[in-house]
Amino acid sequence: MSVAPEQAARAAPEPSPPGADPRIAPLLALADRCVQCGLCLPHCPTYRLDRIEAESPRGRIAWARATAAGRLAPTEAGDVHLDHCLGCRRCEPVCPAGVKYGELLVQARTVQAQRRPPAPRVQRLLALLRRPRRLAALLRLYRFAWPLLPARWRPLPRPPASFPSSSASSGYVPVSTGYVPVGSPALAIFVGCIARSYEGPARAALVALLRAAGVEPRLPDGQGCCGAADAHAGLADPAAVSAATNRQAFAGAGDVLCLASGCHDSLARSLDGVATVSEPLAWLASRGEGLRFRAANRRVALHLPCTQRSVLGGGEPIRALLARIPGLELVLLPDTGCCGAAGLHQMTEPARAAAFRAPLLEAFTASGASELLSTNIGCRLHLGTGTTLPVRHPIEFLAEHLA
Ligand code: SF4
Ligand code: SF4
Repeated sequence: MSVAPEQAARAAPEPSPPGADPRIAPLLALADRCVQCGLCLPHCPTYRLDRIEAESPRGRIAWARATAAGRLAPTEAGDVHLDHCLGCRRCEPVCPAGVKYGELLVQARTVQAQRRPPAPRVQRLLALLRRPRRLAALLRLYRFAWPLLPARWRPLPRPPASFPSSSASSGYVPVSTGYVPVGSPALAIFVGCIARSYEGPARAALVALLRAAGVEPRLPDGQGCCGAADAHAGLADPAAVSAATNRQAFAGAGDVLCLASGCHDSLARSLDGVATVSEPLAWLASRGEGLRFRAANRRVALHLPCTQRSVLGGGEPIRALLARIPGLELVLLPDTGCCGAAGLHQMTEPARAAAFRAPLLEAFTASGASELLSTNIGCRLHLGTGTTLPVRHPIEFLAEHLA
């Protein structure tokens, strides 16, 4: 059943309370679009887990609208239901009224953070994400300590040995010395925050594939976090600082390739008018026709993160590229809902995050695949703590099989 917006009863526009914070009017305008049809509920992972209205998109919209308008006093329980939202945006494409839930969530959390700042632990984690070099240094220590730590002190997988500060001899383009040969399109690579450490091998693989396709990328100095984690925590000011940092770093970059599907939307908004953000696999699928791959003769599972589905339009370019590897048996894992990673959610709500992850890992085990491929760094970190099998970016698998 579908309900056209004009057929459904839309509530009367909610007025801002007199003297209200100027951020409340845009939130109410976004919430007013909801016609309360409930068609989004079965698609929402938190509603499917808890089966209560307050854990659904409709419930969260109604709560954010009523508290912002001053009709309802905020409660800790209501705030926690908003905290639980994964930001997966699975509710957005199925909404017949065109509710922009992703924007609405950011606005609702921004208003929420004015009266109830994020927990100190969350603020400490966010502060680290804003300082990628300091975070990389800490993760280097974590890597050495990891074999000695008990399982409960290993919230993230062991970081790889390769870091982006390594020299070109380990497969990296030095961060500050990339160049663009005459006649090649300008192309830069976004590094990110936690991905600076964890995505080193994926970046090396991307560089190898681009070089095989005849393009030399740059990794501009001075870039930072995409700002999505701050924005989703309601911290608009540090998110704006990250956006300005990246605008400066990527000025004149042309195309910017972003390996993490979860960073893509935030980075694209930040670089609007400065550079075009592209998904590396889509870029290679359309321009890397000269790439040749050797046989794999293995079964490998592919996971499509929520952001790959709802922001990047699905996984067709990934499957098209992997299909060029002779002998590869690719198993697309069923859509079991969000894996529960959801930025910092995997650290702040580990039990809920594990519950969301369980059916996906069961499907992975049942597939008989020898490794799991996923395009989002957050998903890979979360999935990687739940399996002993390798969890990698598809780009690493592709580069490994370059002929
Ligand atoms: S973003 Fe995801 S978790 Fe949040 S309300 Fe929408 S579907 Fe549910
Ligand atoms: S967000 Fe969209 S699908 Fe969900 S209840 Fe509101 S109008 Fe219906």
